Amino acid sequence: MCFGVRDAIALALEHADAGPLTILGDLVHNPTVLGTLEARGVTVAQDITHVKTATLMVTAHGTSERTLARTRALGLTVVEATCPLVHVAHRAVATLAREGYHVVIVGQRNHVEVRGLTGDLDHFDVVLDEGDVLALDEHPRIGVAAQTTQALEKVRHLVDLIRQRFPDSEVRFVDTVCKPTKDRQSAAIEMARQADVVIVVGGQSSNNTRELVKTCGRYCARVHHVQTEADVRSEWFDGAEVVGLTAGTSTPDDVIDRVEARITQLSPTCPAPEASAAGSTLAAGSRP
Ligand code: SF4
Repeated sequence: MCFGVRDAIALALEHADAGPLTILGDLVHNPTVLGTLEARGVTVAQDITHVKTATLMVTAHGTSERTLARTRALGLTVVEATCPLVHVAHRAVATLAREGYHVVIVGQRNHVEVRGLTGDLDHFDVVLDEGDVLALDEHPRIGVAAQTTQALEKVRHLVDLIRQRFPDSEVRFVDTVCKPTKDRQSAAIEMARQADVVIVVGGQSSNNTRELVKTCGRYCARVHHVQTEADVRSEWFDGAEVVGLTAGTSTPDDVIDRVEARITQLSPTCPAPEASAAGSTLAAGSRP
C-alpha cells in the first residue's frame, strides 16, 4: 500500500474514534478497507449536500478549492487526507492554467482525482486514449498533466500524439504520475516478463490496479485481476511454473498475503510462502 493511502486510512480511523465522520467519495477503491471503515461507523457520501455529520474527510484523491469553499460555506469541519503527491499535481495544473495553457489531463474523466484536478478550471479537456486526442480542438498553448496513477508509458504516448496533431501549438508536459505508481509499474513489467501467470490484487474500480493489469498483459498472456483470495481459480495455474503476484496501491497487505496463501495452496509447483524467500516459483513483484 502506498504511503498516501496508508496515511489517509490511519487519519480516517483516528477521526472515526473521535466522533461521527463522513468521507467524501471512496477513501480508497478497495472493498475490504471500506468494509473496515464502515464497521467503525464511518459513512461515505458522493456529494457534500448528502453529508449529515459535522466532520467531513477529503480523500487521498484530493478535491478542488471550489468544493472546499462549498464545505466551508455549509459550516463543516474538513479533515484533509489529500496525498502530498496529489497536491503536487494540483499545483502543476494551477501553474499551467495561470501561465495561459489550455489544460489537458490524461486520466479518467469521472475519477474523483480528475474531478478534483479540473474542478477549479473553467476550460479543460480530459483524454484517456487516442480517440480522445483526435477529438481535441487546437489551442496555441496546451499544458498536459496526468492523473497520478496513470501508466507513464501511455501518458507519454498521448503527449507525443498531441504534439503530432498540433505541430503549431506549444505543448508543455508536466509529469505528475506519482513515484509509487512508477515503481510499481516498472516492477510489474520485470515480473510479468518472467511469469507464466500473473495475479493482480485490488479493487475492481481501482485505477492503478487496472493499469497494472493492462501493463502486465503486455508482457504475459495469462493475467488475472482478483479482489480477494475467493476469486482465485485453480485452473489458472495449469502448466504454470512461475506465478507472478502484484497489487494496486490501495490493497492491504493482509489481503495480498491471503491471495498468496491461496495460490500456493492451489498450485502444486509453488512451495509454501515461508520457503518462497529462498528462491520460490512465486515472484512477488511490486510490494512496497
Ligand atoms: S497512488 Fe500515488 S498519488 Fe495516489 S495516494 Fe498513492 S502515492 Fe499518493
